[in-house]
Amino acid sequence: MSKSFDVVVIGAGPGGYVAAIRCAQLGLNTVCIDDWKSAQGKPSLGGTCLNVGCIPSKALLESSEKFEHLTHDFAAHGICAENAHGICAENARVDVPKMIARKNKIVSDFTLGISQLFKKNKVSSLHGRAQLLGRDGDVWRVGITDGEEEVTAKHIIIATGSTSRILQQAPLDGVQVVDNVGALSFSETPKRLAIIGAGVIGLELGSVWRRLGAEVTLLEASSVFLPAADEQVAKEALRTFTKQKLTIHLGAQIDGVIQSAEAVNINWRDIQGAVQELVADKLIVAVGRVPNTQGLSAEAVELKLGPAGRIEVDEHCRTSLPNVYAVGDVVRGPMLAHKASEEGVMVAELIVGQMGCCDLNLVPNVMYTAPEIAWVGKTEQQLKAAGVAYKAGQFPFLANGRARALGDTTGFIKIIADANTDRILGVHIIGPMASELIQQAVLAMAFSASSEDLARTIHAHPSLSEVMHEAALAVAKRTIHI
Ligand code: FAD
Ligand code: NAD
Repeated sequence: MSKSFDVVVIGAGPGGYVAAIRCAQLGLNTVCIDDWKSAQGKPSLGGTCLNVGCIPSKALLESSEKFEHLTHDFAAHGICAENAHGICAENARVDVPKMIARKNKIVSDFTLGISQLFKKNKVSSLHGRAQLLGRDGDVWRVGITDGEEEVTAKHIIIATGSTSRILQQAPLDGVQVVDNVGALSFSETPKRLAIIGAGVIGLELGSVWRRLGAEVTLLEASSVFLPAADEQVAKEALRTFTKQKLTIHLGAQIDGVIQSAEAVNINWRDIQGAVQELVADKLIVAVGRVPNTQGLSAEAVELKLGPAGRIEVDEHCRTSLPNVYAVGDVVRGPMLAHKASEEGVMVAELIVGQMGCCDLNLVPNVMYTAPEIAWVGKTEQQLKAAGVAYKAGQFPFLANGRARALGDTTGFIKIIADANTDRILGVHIIGPMASELIQQAVLAMAFSASSEDLARTIHAHPSLSEVMHEAALAVAKRTIHI
């Protein structure tokens, strides 16, 4: 006998678990099926984000940044823990296994927290791989792990997420050649670390291991650095990362990887086509992610997939099948946790007949490097290409008192507004706490604010948010502090 529910959610990442909780809050009898297992082989809710993505990477970024502050920044504040020989900072060391254990504890606390949230909200949770079996009348049948168990529901939400894209020339072995999973659990700092792909994972994890002492080299296929970011931000980022001694080769083509007991040899060609060889102790492959649709029986039930293998959906995340929705990394749009969650909430609300929407133009993007990079809305290059008349205002952190006090003055905030209406079209930040500052811009844009609205808003002094204020003033060419 199969158990019947109102909603079956497949996947318990930020798309699925949030959708399941919201469905249950709205009175729907909901089950969430997920197949993730921890390194210890135990079911672990939270998907990529909690297990091997957002949370563990931020834990390591934080630990490594603290180490960098100790070794590079504290002395300027007059802070010094001297050893017996009076040497400061040079004797600092990091206990990598302890740092990884701290990260693992944060992950397990959070994944356990999701089980508790499920209990609190009365979401049923099943472990296993789900497969769409077909529809009887208006009820969908879902098999779990080779059809050993079956559940039924009128509504299905697919939130199966994504996994690392495999590069044929650099197959993973999980030890020397790894993706994000391995790179979040090295037992010691590799002396020489190579990374294929200078995207967000490459730069975040490259920063972690560089701060801890690795010589990091990134090989990036594109001849343009961070093409999705505003050009000016990307230029400033490349300058700063290079200064930090992240070696970044653009226009690199990978020919092959040869592994031996001692090293990984990466054969590649540079932008001029010259043959090069990079020798490293570890190699991280971070060349994007692919949607998880294998094993769902998409073809058998005629679930339509797009050209990149993502499930096709409309603006309300409705798939080609009746009462079947899909959210998160497995559908179009940026592969970001907050986007997945908002889509999950929208779908739950639509199922009970409420209004639901998720505006993909207002999804903030953040890179947790130092300096952080964050943006929302359109870049200057996008507006130029679309022929939209705009005006831009910019202000540097260098002229901000709080940034000076923090000792972190790299970067700027740029606001782009419509030339005719002054409505804010995009905000781009490179600098301290960009991840927090961007939310002010998202909120302003969600309320269709003009740059003048921001300029006339009182900002606390001294605070980093004053840079946003001055950037808004700069749109009308009336900054005060520059
Ligand atoms: P996922 O989190 O991938 O979850 C899908 C779940 O479904 C998984 O548990 C999977 O095992 C399960 N599943 C798949 N198929 C089946 C099936 N057939 N049956 C049952 N279960 C199934 N995003 C941010 O917004 N901020 C960040 O800072 C950030 N950092 C990241 C760092 C790294 C290293 C990585 C890899 C990603 C990061 N991301 C970040 C991206 C973020 O993790 C994803 O966008 C997010 O996890 C997508 O959520 P999701 O629910 O769509 O899918
Ligand atoms: P990405 O798309 O950010 O970067 C991949 C990079 O690899 C690109 O620059 C691409 O040009 C390059 N590349 C592709 N093929 C290559 C090849 N053959 N040789 C060399 N370079 C090659 O993808 P990612 O860094 O793998 O991250 C995946 C996704 O995870 C991101 O799209 C993002 O949505 C999400 N993520 C988000 C955060 C965050 O929000 N802070 C952090 C990590 C990951």
